[in-house]
Amino acid sequence: MTFSAVIVAAGSGTRAGPGQAKQWRPLAGKPVLRWSVEAFLAAGAARIVVVTTRDGEAALSDVLAGLSGWTSALGGATRALSVQAGLAALADRPDDEPVLVHDAARPLVSGATITGVLAALESADLALPALPVADTLKRAEPGEPLATTSRDHLWRAQTPQAARRATLLAAYAVWSGGEPTDDAQVVEAAGGRVALAPGDPLLMKLTYPEDFAMAERLAGAARITRVGQGFDAHRWGPGDEVWLCGVAIKHDETLIGHSDADAGLHALTDAILGAIGQGDIGDHFPPTDPQWKGASSDRFLKHAAELAAARGGAIVNVDVTLICERPKIKPHRQAMRERLAEILGLPLDRISVKATTTEKMGFTGRGEGLAASAVVAVETPA
Ligand code: MG
Repeated sequence: MTFSAVIVAAGSGTRAGPGQAKQWRPLAGKPVLRWSVEAFLAAGAARIVVVTTRDGEAALSDVLAGLSGWTSALGGATRALSVQAGLAALADRPDDEPVLVHDAARPLVSGATITGVLAALESADLALPALPVADTLKRAEPGEPLATTSRDHLWRAQTPQAARRATLLAAYAVWSGGEPTDDAQVVEAAGGRVALAPGDPLLMKLTYPEDFAMAERLAGAARITRVGQGFDAHRWGPGDEVWLCGVAIKHDETLIGHSDADAGLHALTDAILGAIGQGDIGDHFPPTDPQWKGASSDRFLKHAAELAAARGGAIVNVDVTLICERPKIKPHRQAMRERLAEILGLPLDRISVKATTTEKMGFTGRGEGLAASAVVAVETPA
């Protein structure tokens, strides 16, 4: 099921303290707004509309640099008008496509929350993440004694709230209750069925200055480390040099393949694609496609790294093992590490290249071919 997202980032957010509005302030190294955009991209949003101010629109290309799949819309004077502006900007999407409406002030949105509201929407007109109230509630009316109030059946509503675009637009069209506090209230008023999905304590709303310190501490928990593994092998054939891990080595044979047959780069490309669940190298660069004939394999690796970055991923470290009897890899290891560091834009100490023989056993041992294995760790939004 495809879905789109509207992220509301049009507020001035003065309660969060002086200076920039909260959606533009840095949180654990990146702007608050960017956290949400990366999370929705990682979850597979077909389109994201960021609703913001005129100044905000001018800043988006910096704040969301390197990300694609988003557009912007100019917000209104209230949140409700901004949401409707965002929905209008999705006019080319199917009417019945789910739209997740989200407040930029809740940066730590997880893939599990997005999946949860989409699942709950299947039997409702709107689905929202919510947490049961855990604290004891007190009512303090002026001039009255303090009273303890039941917390039974009370929930804390969060965003993203999911509804089909046509449902939300129709509900807003008949809404006459002033400024609603969320989209669910508008759908409830229109007689729609609203369902609860599991909420997340990490989805805290940045409201007061001290919330930033708390969110900084929680931000680490909103990232996960994924591991990817890749393997490749190519056959030896006539030639006088071989490409391994992006380095040309003089040799009395070469590896045969459709591209430059750099098994080290191919295994590493597959490892990155594996870590982000994006298929394998053949899906992205089919060997039947003549444009990849003789291609330099650093393009494949760069493409996989760009796909990871587009999902908000950061490669932590890579470890490649080349398996062959000949040529000797050790004299070239440092050059290979430097080349991989250059292609991936990583410090040298995050890159490992190792080599082993198989003691003359198997196809590598008999000199029929060379094999490569790679492992990578990629940190991504949860
Ligand atoms: Mg290959």
